[in-house]
Amino acid sequence: MQAWVIGNWKQNPATSQEVNALLDDLLSRVDAGERAKTQASKTQCHLMVAPSNIHLATVHTRLANSALLCAAQDVSAHSESTGAYTGDCSAQQVADAGATWTLLGHSERRQYHNESHNCLLNKLSHAFSQNLSVVFCIGETQEQYDNNQTFEIIDTQLSVIKDLLAQQPDITASLSERLIIAYEPVWAIGTGKVPTVAEVSKTHQHIKQTVAGFADMADTVTVLYGGSVNADNAESFAADTMIDGALVGGASLKADSFLAIADAFSQADTESNK
Ligand code: PEP
Repeated sequence: MQAWVIGNWKQNPATSQEVNALLDDLLSRVDAGERAKTQASKTQCHLMVAPSNIHLATVHTRLANSALLCAAQDVSAHSESTGAYTGDCSAQQVADAGATWTLLGHSERRQYHNESHNCLLNKLSHAFSQNLSVVFCIGETQEQYDNNQTFEIIDTQLSVIKDLLAQQPDITASLSERLIIAYEPVWAIGTGKVPTVAEVSKTHQHIKQTVAGFADMADTVTVLYGGSVNADNAESFAADTMIDGALVGGASLKADSFLAIADAFSQADTESNK
């Protein structure tokens, strides 16, 4: 399985000029890497960035001839298309702007926008109806981690997927291609604190088994780790076979660190294919 490394730019960068500078940096390094690609480093991971909606069309246009994909960070829960929902952006609108994927259920959306089970069920349904694939984010808070509730919390969050499949069983056949789960312990996001690789590995195994239990899937679901991944710790996460890639916040805002993380996962893929 080719790894995924996805940059969540959140509400960054501040200006179009800075977005273009980051893209210049990313594209020149990715192009140089492509040219220098040797037999030994042939396996590359999937790369994707999720800018804010205001920058989505620009980012899509600039990435059009590159290996990088473009994702939205969210879609409206109210309508997959149009309606009187001031401030919202629909799945159809972000797809039209060039997104092929969307993040959903990021802990910052759950925390600051009170996203509930039903809200996320609507968002997933709207995204899939508009042919967007989904990176579904889950994870426990520090308090829940301290109380050993990680699996319980994750099971509750994953039940949205189960309910979606009950509503739309036709999605099941393509689920492993259209859904990625990002396990992001809330306490690890933007804090510099990380769980051990063994802990992440055990949790990913649980997630894979749980999602497989919802649907008779041909392949196992891709599960990424997110939370303070950086150029220094990426290699240790990449070495574990249960960790299929990374969702990266802060370190995705610099081409250097983002591509160093991508290199760590590409290298691990190459080694496991030897
Ligand atoms: C995130 O917000 O999805 C994230 C993983 O952030 P960071 O890498 O900054 O912890």
